[in-house]
Amino acid sequence: MPAPPLIPCDVAVIGSGIAGMSAAWFAAREGFATVVVGRTGGILFASSLLDLLAVHPLAERRLWENPWEGLARLAADEPGHPLARIAPARIREAIDAVAAALGACGLAYGDGGNRNRWVLTALGTFRPTWRVPATMEAGIAARRAGAAARIVSFHGLRGFSARGIVECARPSWKALSAAVVEFPRAAPGGELFPERMARALETEAARAALAEALTPCRQGAAALGLPAVLGISRPAEVHRDLEARLGLPLFEIPTLPPGATGPRLKEAFERALAQAGVRRILGQSVVRAEALATGGFRLETENRDFCPGIEARGVILATGRFLGGGLRAERGRVVETVFGLPVAFPEDRDRWHRRDFFDPSGHPLNRAGLPFDEAFRPLGGGGEPAHPRLFAAGSILAGQDWVRSGCGSGLAIATARAAVDGLKKALA
Ligand SMILES: Cc1cc2nc3c(=O)[nH]c(=O)nc-3n(C[C@H](O)[C@H](O)[C@H](O)COP(=O)(O)OP(=O)(O)OC[C@H]3O[C@@H](n4cnc5c(N)ncnc54)[C@H](O)[C@@H]3O)c2cc1C
Repeated sequence: MPAPPLIPCDVAVIGSGIAGMSAAWFAAREGFATVVVGRTGGILFASSLLDLLAVHPLAERRLWENPWEGLARLAADEPGHPLARIAPARIREAIDAVAAALGACGLAYGDGGNRNRWVLTALGTFRPTWRVPATMEAGIAARRAGAAARIVSFHGLRGFSARGIVECARPSWKALSAAVVEFPRAAPGGELFPERMARALETEAARAALAEALTPCRQGAAALGLPAVLGISRPAEVHRDLEARLGLPLFEIPTLPPGATGPRLKEAFERALAQAGVRRILGQSVVRAEALATGGFRLETENRDFCPGIEARGVILATGRFLGGGLRAERGRVVETVFGLPVAFPEDRDRWHRRDFFDPSGHPLNRAGLPFDEAFRPLGGGGEPAHPRLFAAGSILAGQDWVRSGCGSGLAIATARAAVDGLKKALA
């Protein structure tokens, strides 16, 4: 039997994290026939907050109220940082576009403007971020106003203690109090899981029962804070409905992973990709990539019955770092796992990590990644682009520590935009 034909496309994106899905969405919106192939990764653990830049310089632990001012300082100090290599207006445009697309798919975001916001966490701390899901915004306003807010947890939900949150957060938000209620239809003494709770709340009957359970918690409260379980596919709608039933503002608090916010973000992205016409080959790894004499690429996935292979005119590599599997650390070196591209990392293994695990400057290995040119093409051994039509986006790029800088999603989305801009020129 002849082998089934390869899937032809203009752009193949490898990796389906925030960078890969954003790149696929941008490419399709440019009119390219686009395929994204990726296995599930860290996006399932995401809080769905879209960070832009919170901390810089890391050693000083300087926090920025205005992330754009932070980016200007970053560009001056670290011109090689991926975010320093994209015009701020382009970064803003890219994140605005993705946030709007996610909003149109049920996951609405508040406006970012020029300010970072401080979001209450399940640990009772406050963390800075730029774009906040609409379901979490009322907490920011309530804290700013010093309003009386009641944090509510549910019997059986681990890692989310209303009392613990209130204890930790009270020094900076005095008017907080705690309550614990039963989640509707929960088995007595059983464990609750955020994703299941969130899916249950997509039904009207569950929302009506939850509103009833929460009614006593309204007493003396100007707002209620709940774990982030208000729906998966239609959180904005679930949130609005519950607020209307209870007659006061509700805000979600991101839970510890795995929560409902990661699947929510992933599914909103997948709907946006479907609407943009992206062909999605998910749950699959690219196991072999070959540059063709025609100037394009042939990609092979792990399950040929599921996907016979892809033939693309250009490729965007968005396979993440160590957690995503885009990079792998061996005894004395770091390798890029799809193309075997050169990776920048400290050659002396003793310098991969600092002696102090909590050193605010971060560990040099966390800046390892692909060196790239001004078009976001990874470099080959000689310092020239490895291939004229191969681009890279997201945390696989060298010269950044997104975890400590608090720039994860912003970096993923902005570099996806830059890679698509580069690819557009290369395919013209
Ligand atoms: C626990 C956690 C919490 C986070 N919270 C936030 C937050 O609150 N705010 C924020 O802004 N950011 C947050 N982020 C960061 C945000 O998700 C980053 O933007 C992201 O991790 C980096 O995105 P990425 O797409 O570059 O890489 P990844 O998310 O690592 O995605 C890479 C993808 O490529 C896939 N892949 C790897 N190799 C292959 C292959 N050969 N073939 C096919 N697919 C492959 C991986 O499986 C993975 O799905 C969080 C991340 C984590 C892990």
